[in-house]
Amino acid sequence: MRCLLPKLSAGVAAGLVAASSTPASAHVGDHSHMTFATLAEHLLTALDHRFAIAAVVLLAGFAAVVTAMTRRKAQARATAARSPETPAT
Ligand SMILES: [Zn+2]
Repeated sequence: MRCLLPKLSAGVAAGLVAASSTPASAHVGDHSHMTFATLAEHLLTALDHRFAIAAVVLLAGFAAVVTAMTRRKAQARATAARSPETPAT
């Protein structure tokens, strides 16, 4: 199956993501008035932050799977190139 994603280097992909990113805002307001402990509790218990964390985890998992599949295909191609099948007699 052919990958439909354009072939980008990791640096180019990271640059595109960084250039298109915006500050995250799960809700209106800021967290600057919170202590570290209060902020940690808020980030782990508030539903909107949980959704954001779940989205980040899903995207990271997708990126990991795509990377693993790409590396596996490259290894298979390299192995096939090193040891070509013996011709049928
Ligand atoms: Zn919050």
